[in-house]
Amino acid sequence: MTRIAFLGLGHMGLPMARNLVKAGHDVVAFDVMDAARSAAADAGLFVAPSGPDAASGAEVVITMFPAGRHVLEAYQGGLLDAAAPGTLFIDSSTIAVDEARTAHSLAVEAGHRNIDAPVSGGVVGAENGTLAFMVGASDADFEAAKPLLEAMGKRIVHCGGPGLGQAAKVCNNMILAVSQIVVGEAFVLGERLGLSHDALYDVAANASGQCWALSTNCPVPGPVPTSPANRDYQPGFAGALMAKDLGLALKAIEQTGTDAKMGRLAQELYAAFASGDGAGRDFSSIITDIRDGRV
Ligand code: NAD
Repeated sequence: MTRIAFLGLGHMGLPMARNLVKAGHDVVAFDVMDAARSAAADAGLFVAPSGPDAASGAEVVITMFPAGRHVLEAYQGGLLDAAAPGTLFIDSSTIAVDEARTAHSLAVEAGHRNIDAPVSGGVVGAENGTLAFMVGASDADFEAAKPLLEAMGKRIVHCGGPGLGQAAKVCNNMILAVSQIVVGEAFVLGERLGLSHDALYDVAANASGQCWALSTNCPVPGPVPTSPANRDYQPGFAGALMAKDLGLALKAIEQTGTDAKMGRLAQELYAAFASGDGAGRDFSSIITDIRDGRV
């Protein structure tokens, strides 16, 4: 049993914290929002009066916040000072690679350990304990964190040193964004050429066009009954989250001087998409903007 402070009890954090309790760990939770604290208490979690209070008695501090600034502010606003020396800080928020490295340096300078461990798998994965974790950590810190991550996920990948978990996340989602756009374009092009959705799906899903954006997240209703297109594009993975992740990809592209034309274009298209109704819809519904000539 490990004493864990779990901070950030939103869509992802609350079910993740519950899975740690189910696995037998001693979890003290905190969120800055009253509603999130109440939901956590209703779910049977022990809720601390503040983040530093939760961190003070913990061996491990896990954060699941919206963005990098929340992580850096919380670390510098009392968490690092409150924790006992040598505490393992695990940040599972999706944040920029450079922010993750800054968080790592701050934690180490304060006498702690820190890893970045962003996730994929969404709220369903968080609830079912089937998340994928992409981890940036030293070998020793990875081994220390692994049993805890296994209580919340089914695939735990050690991507390299600090920041490289976030690097893997940003690269993966750039692939996903570009492929979801082109799958949408292919279906719209097929429609205009008189090709049925089923025929295109049957060919491409069994040929070299096969990819997750087609075979799992098919953007037209019919061929894949579980895809968001069959439920009016309820997410799934919301356009706002994809736009956020592509903003992190763009930052990394610019910082590294990478010639990533498709990644840049995907960022522009999803930023426009998420500035309207697309923010709350599954990101595969960008096909409707393509069909209507809005992108
Ligand atoms: P969310 O907004 O539902 O939850 C974040 C919580 O953090 C909020 O309740 C907020 O009040 C809390 N918080 C912020 N600052 C805090 C602080 N200093 N102390 C305590 N609590 C604080 O977000 P989410 O959907 O749970 O996502 C969390 C992270 O996971 C994000 O970085 C997101 O990009 C990433 N992510 C989300 C999904 C998804 O499907 N929702 C999937 C993969 C990754």
